[in-house]
Amino acid sequence: MTEGPQRVDADLDRWSAPLPAGSGRLQLDPLLLPVLVLNRVFQPIRITTARRALILLYSGTAQVLDGEGELHDFAPWRRLPVRAGQDDPLPIVGGQLRVPRMVRLRRYARCWRATVRLSRRNVLLRDGYQCQYCAGFFAAPELDMDHVLPRSRGGATSWTNLVTACQSCNRSKGRRTPGEAGTPLLRHPVAPRWSHSVQLLTGAPGRYAEWEPFLQAG
Ligand SMILES: [Zn+2]
Repeated sequence: MTEGPQRVDADLDRWSAPLPAGSGRLQLDPLLLPVLVLNRVFQPIRITTARRALILLYSGTAQVLDGEGELHDFAPWRRLPVRAGQDDPLPIVGGQLRVPRMVRLRRYARCWRATVRLSRRNVLLRDGYQCQYCAGFFAAPELDMDHVLPRSRGGATSWTNLVTACQSCNRSKGRRTPGEAGTPLLRHPVAPRWSHSVQLLTGAPGRYAEWEPFLQAG
C-alpha cells in the first residue's frame, strides 16, 4: 500500500491479526490484551498491548487508571488482588497480576488521534469479513480488496473506494462499477473513526466499559 502519509500504529495492526468476524473478545495471551493509553490530560491516544503497557508502568512512564478513576503506580497495582470474573489475570512469580485496561502517561501531553492504517487486513476488519456484493461471510484468504471504481479508471486506493469482496464477486465484477455490474454495495465504504476503530480492534461486544467515558470525551 503506497497511499499518502498515514499514521501507522503498529499495535493496531498486531491487534487486528487474529480477529475472525463476530468472535467478540478473544482468548489470548493476557500480555496481548488491549490497553487504552491516555495522555497526561486523560485523552485517548492509542491502544496498545498489555505487554507494552506493563513496560510503561514498570518504568514509571505511565500509571494504571482503574475503573473507579484511581491512579496506581506499579508497586501498589501489583499488590491488588485479581477479582474473579472481573479482572484478566496474568500469572506472575508468586501469584497473579491484574492486567491493566487503561494507563495514563505521566508526561505525554500532546493530543493526537490515531488513524487506522489503510491495509487489506483493516479493510476486511471494517467490513466484518463480509463480501460487500453478495453479503456472504468468508475466511480472510478467500477475500479480496476490491476497488469500487476500478483503478484502471482512476479509482483511488482509499478507505472510501475499497471494499471487501469474495473472489467470485471480484472476478465477475471485473473492471466495472457496481452499477454497471448490477451488484450494488451492501454498505457505503467509509474511513473508520477513532472510536469505531477501537470497536474494530477489540471486537465490539468485548470493549471494556472502563474505556467508555474516555472514548466519548475523545
Ligand atoms: Zn461475494
